[in-house]
Amino acid sequence: MPLYLPHFNLQNYNTLASPVCADFFVSVKDEEELQAAIKFAKEKNFPLLVLGGGSNIVLHENFPGLAIHVQLLGKELVREDDEFYYVKAAAGENWSDFVDYCLDEGFFGLENLSLIPGNVGAAPIQNIGAYGVELKDVFSELSAVDVKSGLSITFTPESCQFGYRDSVFKNALLDQFIITSVTFKLGKKPNLNIQYPALQAALVGYSPQEITPELVSQVVCDIRRSKLPDPKQIPNVGSFFKNPIITPSKLVELQQTYPDIVSYPVDETRVKLAAGWLIDRAGWKGRELEATVHAEQALVLTNPKRLKGTAVLALASAIKEAILLKFGVELEQEPRNYP
Ligand SMILES: Cc1cc2nc3c(=O)[nH]c(=O)nc-3n(C[C@H](O)[C@H](O)[C@H](O)COP(=O)(O)OP(=O)(O)OC[C@H]3O[C@@H](n4cnc5c(N)ncnc54)[C@H](O)[C@@H]3O)c2cc1C
Repeated sequence: MPLYLPHFNLQNYNTLASPVCADFFVSVKDEEELQAAIKFAKEKNFPLLVLGGGSNIVLHENFPGLAIHVQLLGKELVREDDEFYYVKAAAGENWSDFVDYCLDEGFFGLENLSLIPGNVGAAPIQNIGAYGVELKDVFSELSAVDVKSGLSITFTPESCQFGYRDSVFKNALLDQFIITSVTFKLGKKPNLNIQYPALQAALVGYSPQEITPELVSQVVCDIRRSKLPDPKQIPNVGSFFKNPIITPSKLVELQQTYPDIVSYPVDETRVKLAAGWLIDRAGWKGRELEATVHAEQALVLTNPKRLKGTAVLALASAIKEAILLKFGVELEQEPRNYP
């Protein structure tokens, strides 16, 4: 029977290291404990804060409810066909360790997503992505407990409604389901995706035979370590803003003033701008209020003084205002605020 710990400091449970307390905290290791925690919250009329690795949340004030740390563990090969292995991982598995496990076992497709912090259960929430691959590209299905009914439901790729750093769990089904496991559809043979410019550049000089999934994973890890601060040293949540999507005509307008603006085509009607470039060009890279814009990567806001999330939110708000004023582009925050 897990303990329900009162007035619990969440500083070690969020990578911004914000020292805020939850009224109650419980760590759940199986579905039965999860069901009991949901019941506990219902009886007390507590809102829920579902916690994985805490690497995509901003805790700005004390949380007036129950924080549930999802620690369900386990991974297994559930089936295979001619082309794919179907590998299921419980929500509390560490994402990066799971990627390494799959590589070791010869289950291919996760290599570009190496070293992303957090746990498996949170990965579908924002359809994690990096270096040209998104979770949706390797997703088969997930199981989640319906907070209202307590029933376990299976979600297909279609019912997850994945988008750019987005899914149904951030929209129509916000706070309604707790993910317990995710099943991935992973190649029996490598099918490498090395089109992403930074990846391509890092692989120059290697022969096609040398470019294996293991090498791609290694290169991705090296690039990430060189660009992104380790949250254990400098608290952060990775990219603080999504890359804004604009119309091609807005891009043409911006290019008149900023010919070197960084953009990526999405489709005929949409273009993605590099939010980091906008922040850098607006003069915010390395700037410090109570929180700081990382000097190597302007998209990352850091919390070196380990303050409440309000410090980072104040900096984010100043940046958003500056970007809107200078470029007429609205930045959207990626991590979720609590409470
Ligand atoms: C240095 C750094 C680099 C990063 N790089 C990337 C990157 O390249 N690409 C990328 O996409 N993201 C990146 N991120 C963001 C983050 O790692 C991912 O969003 C990750 O999936 C969050 O996992 P988590 O377990 O820490 O989630 P948490 O922060 O614990 O939770 C995030 C959200 O998911 C909900 N949630 C968590 N677990 C469950 C569950 N089991 N069921 C239902 N809801 C749940 C939470 O309530 C919360 O709303 C980075 C973060 C850092 C710190």
